Amino acid sequence: METRAETFDCGIVGGGLAGLCLAIQLADQGFSVMLFEKNQYPFHKVCGEYISMESYNFLHRLGLPFDSLKIPLINRLGISSEQGYMLEHVLEPGGFGISRHTLDHQLSLIAVQKGVVLQENSKVSDVRRSGGHYQITAASGVFHARIVCGSYGKYAPQFIDLPAKKTGANYIGVKYHVRISQPADRIELHNFRDGYCGISKVDGDKFCLCYLTSSKNLQESGKDINVMEERVLFNNPHLKRIFLGSEFVNKQPLVISNITFEKKATEADGVFLLGDAAGSITPLCGNGMSMGMHASLLLAGEIAKYLHNQQSREALSTHYHRAWEQAFGKRITAGYYLQNLFGKRLTTDLALRFLDKSPLLLNKLVALTHGEKF
Ligand SMILES: Cc1cc2nc3c(=O)[nH]c(=O)nc-3n(C[C@H](O)[C@H](O)[C@H](O)COP(=O)(O)OP(=O)(O)OC[C@H]3O[C@@H](n4cnc5c(N)ncnc54)[C@H](O)[C@@H]3O)c2cc1C
Repeated sequence: METRAETFDCGIVGGGLAGLCLAIQLADQGFSVMLFEKNQYPFHKVCGEYISMESYNFLHRLGLPFDSLKIPLINRLGISSEQGYMLEHVLEPGGFGISRHTLDHQLSLIAVQKGVVLQENSKVSDVRRSGGHYQITAASGVFHARIVCGSYGKYAPQFIDLPAKKTGANYIGVKYHVRISQPADRIELHNFRDGYCGISKVDGDKFCLCYLTSSKNLQESGKDINVMEERVLFNNPHLKRIFLGSEFVNKQPLVISNITFEKKATEADGVFLLGDAAGSITPLCGNGMSMGMHASLLLAGEIAKYLHNQQSREALSTHYHRAWEQAFGKRITAGYYLQNLFGKRLTTDLALRFLDKSPLLLNKLVALTHGEKF
């Protein structure tokens, strides 16, 4: 166990996209940053791995080497109903595909290069106020910071006390990497009973095949993923073709459970929250990653003003909360309503047929779930 006498300007709990991006920006401005990640890079994550174009310039500015990573640009969308009806749409401005294995690893390398002190394999178990600072207890030791940010993802650690919320439907997420002959510039979303599955190209020669469904579907299939895929997903002829025509890079999928989608809070117990820790959007809207990155930009700006003594802690808290609500409040609500349109046999089929004839309305719906470039 390490103990450092030094007080860091900022301690960040969780090294996913939101935490890594925040760490890089603060280190870039000369602040001392310690980032805690309970895993070791590189590692896989359940995620559809499609990033909306709004964050392309931001990642470029942070130094992500787009050219050498050969990242596919995606500007066509296909959505199918369980009955096999396929809606085709041009995605404006579209997005790009990159595996979380590659993206998080690349960002961790940039963070270290910028001077972030990275603690891998270091789960944070406690954060508490100690004098005017915060004491962070992690697997690797006890550390101190002036500000602490929580970017620990969807599952709040025990030391974070969030107000209890009514929990909605409970989902599971399943992800594979596959090799398949599909266009690299097209993302497809295929509906099935109580769920949908996306497929799109990522870096390298792989596609990301990732779905979200109710835990009920899994329970009813004897908790066996393969049985559920054959019983439920294969009712959509497109999914049956994809699953049977793919070479699976990993035979066992990556699975996460207990997923809910809701706004949470931008601060809890004096810890500033960002990314999924502050609130998550349904993957159908494809933009959780961009929201996490955008939130890191908003928070980095406010923290810098505080650390330069240009605003009080209270002002930092108020300004970040206001900026977060303005940037994402509507989007999370839109995502919630859209989620209800999908994964329903008849409603989804009718909605897709109607939207196919109303491209302007479809453009509006897509725009509701995307933010401005930042
Ligand atoms: C099925 C599914 C598909 C999705 N598809 C897409 C998509 O295609 N496009 C998109 O933009 N978004 C998608 N999302 C959403 C996206 O994955 C999240 O919004 C995004 O990963 C949030 O990033 P984050 O940094 O907040 O959290 P995460 O990426 O989850 O990172 C949190 C990190 O914190 C670490 N951690 C947690 N607790 C601790 C602790 N106590 N101490 C130290 N470390 C800790 C974890 O190990 C993890 O690395 C999808 C989500 C799901 C569930």
